[in-house]
Amino acid sequence: MKPPNETKTLITFWGTRGSISTPGRTTEKYGGNTPCVTVTHADTSIILDAGTGIRNLGIDLVENSGSGNSPLSLHLFLSHTHWDHIQGLPFFQPAYIRDTQLTIYGSPRKERFLDSVLEDQMDYEYFPIAMSALTAEISIHEISEEIIQVGPVVIDWQEQIYHPGGSVRYGLNINGKRIVYATDVELDKIFKVNPKNEETEALSEEYLSFISNADLLIADGQYTEEEYTIKIGWGHSSIPVVIDTAKQAGVKRLAIFHHDPQHSDSFLDDMWMKNRSGSHSKGHHMELFWAREGMTLSI
Ligand SMILES: [Zn+2]
Ligand SMILES: [Zn+2]
Repeated sequence: MKPPNETKTLITFWGTRGSISTPGRTTEKYGGNTPCVTVTHADTSIILDAGTGIRNLGIDLVENSGSGNSPLSLHLFLSHTHWDHIQGLPFFQPAYIRDTQLTIYGSPRKERFLDSVLEDQMDYEYFPIAMSALTAEISIHEISEEIIQVGPVVIDWQEQIYHPGGSVRYGLNINGKRIVYATDVELDKIFKVNPKNEETEALSEEYLSFISNADLLIADGQYTEEEYTIKIGWGHSSIPVVIDTAKQAGVKRLAIFHHDPQHSDSFLDDMWMKNRSGSHSKGHHMELFWAREGMTLSI
């Protein structure tokens, strides 16, 4: 039995939708906001991506940080800068609070600096407030180190090449547990579509070892097997390939994430029914679920 005072790590999904936000009655259950996830352990919170879901996170953070509390110290890790992963940032309330410290991390291997991409999103033609007018103390950090430590959380990362413009996956190690956030990547190209060669072998080993035995894997599963055949090269994975690779790597819980904007709640429910038996294999049971906006897990 675990000691009663052991601190839990909480994972909350603030946005689970891929590509574009999809409000409406047919997406109420799984949510319409684009990617944003928090991983919280005691006083430390890591934010993964700044899709439209980060707006509600910001409201929650401000409501729960009363006047007597210490200023917010926030760490935001961006997988990449496609709209669906940064569009909530201009609506993130803590960025407008003077004492907030916000560090934004992202890939160093881009043609343009991360700060200029984020600033351009708030260009006057697109948004009335310039990034320079945000009153929080914001620092933008293109990752150069192999490992980043934020409080008790140790974060490692890898570049994912099979996505237009690339993306980054993050591994968060806390209290002996590992959580992997690996969205916006076309795993089918590594494991199924491209011919087996040195490159795909190396990429598949790299991926499998990164997610190996993860306590939770949050993974891009945007397409069904059929949909994928007409979306090859779009940079997203088909659900069966994600399940197979996660199972192969001994993942304990798999959250299918970055739901396609065309997928209604009932469609996603059907997909879960169709795929759930694939998560079992001899000697290994992987918990499989579809990430849902507002859902909090404890690890
Ligand atoms: Zn995306
Ligand atoms: Zn993308």
